[in-house]
Amino acid sequence: MKQTITAKLKLSLSQEQKELLRTASLAYRDGLNYTSGIAFEMNCSSSPTTIQKVVYRELRDKFSLPSQMACNIPRQVAASYKTQWTKYKQNKLAREKGKTKKRYKGLDTPMEYSSRTLYLSYGRDFSLVKGQVSIGTLKGRIKVDYQGYNKHLDYIRQGTRIGGAKVWYCKSSKTYYLLVPLEIEVADVKPDDIKKVVGVDVGQRCHAVITDAQNNIQFYHGGETNYRAEHYKRVRQRLQAKGTPYGLSFGQRSATRKLIALSGRERRFKRNRNHDLSSKIATSNTLIGLENLTNIRESTNRRSNSKASKKQRRANRNQSKWGFAELHSFIDYKAVLNSSMSIKVDAHYTSQQCVKCGHTSKNNRPDKGLMFDCECCGYKLHSDLVGARNICMRTMILRQDLSSTGLLSVTPDVSKDEGKADNLKRFSVSLTEGQYCAGFQRQARAPRASGN
Ligand SMILES: [Zn+2]
Repeated sequence: MKQTITAKLKLSLSQEQKELLRTASLAYRDGLNYTSGIAFEMNCSSSPTTIQKVVYRELRDKFSLPSQMACNIPRQVAASYKTQWTKYKQNKLAREKGKTKKRYKGLDTPMEYSSRTLYLSYGRDFSLVKGQVSIGTLKGRIKVDYQGYNKHLDYIRQGTRIGGAKVWYCKSSKTYYLLVPLEIEVADVKPDDIKKVVGVDVGQRCHAVITDAQNNIQFYHGGETNYRAEHYKRVRQRLQAKGTPYGLSFGQRSATRKLIALSGRERRFKRNRNHDLSSKIATSNTLIGLENLTNIRESTNRRSNSKASKKQRRANRNQSKWGFAELHSFIDYKAVLNSSMSIKVDAHYTSQQCVKCGHTSKNNRPDKGLMFDCECCGYKLHSDLVGARNICMRTMILRQDLSSTGLLSVTPDVSKDEGKADNLKRFSVSLTEGQYCAGFQRQARAPRASGN
């Protein structure tokens, strides 16, 4: 099994080399924008070969790009248009179903590329030799020292397979970085390797609740981080009120600059938190159960218009802002590197199903509050913990599949209604048999706070 991770290498460039990389990346960007315009005229073509036939000569002569880059550009542009087409089709479907009235406008104008990035193919545009990276520019190759995270450097030294890289320019520190994907060979996880099963519930109030069958609970509250996210929101609103971006007065310009810096800071802050959480969750030899969140967001009815209360609006903001998909993807790859495995379980009713008697009802969550209160057996528990336990139990059931068949469906099939019903039936049967609940039958202790 292969796992790809991205190593971020900081390039130590001389002034001269910096200039060479600058011209190369700017030429590349101009080439992208030129090609994008041509592809737009070709009815937004998403075929790399068709685009390449038209633009290749121009890219070589007019932008003096090396041949490999002149091949990469049409490929990148085609991929961008393909994404746009997918979004366009999704929108069309949604409009037919009456879910939205908005028309997707992404294909109305040619795609624009504004940031200074440069895609390099390994072995052709760049290579890593003897602790140095050799990068092709418009005027020959440059050899540059680099720094990076020790673990990543070890992988490179061991001769891990390397993919196509990206040169990225950080505006604020005026530094160039090379983002190199490393394909790491990891052993497949066998059923016997798994010593522990945990369920992880992600949410706004608690960013992560982790529990195993032995009732070991870890809570990671969202409190302080949510507070900081709110702070960013307030500052952003204040700055946006200063005027349109690209305004003329000094105040407006500096506001725009501040906004850009702020968005970067906010993004890094969330990323950091997600890295932190995922490292704690992806321990070794563990089968990690996560909720399958695909299509969940669309299906929850939330008020977002002017009728929504202040509290509701705040909840909506948090919900759309916190990157749970990012957290899940971090857990996925860290698990693989740690001889563990993460799987997605069906997420329906995980917060409404009683972990003691299996009764499922909306009324089990009075006022959608902090307390889960089963209307059937009267069992009371922190509601986020109920979610985590249900996920843990569902993960255990899937683990049985792994032991008996050696196969594991990494994501549940909920595309069809039958799939969903089957899944739920399975979970409810095993619940009433009570065989998986042994560890959970004890009256739960009050959740301990750990982490923050
Ligand atoms: Zn109950």
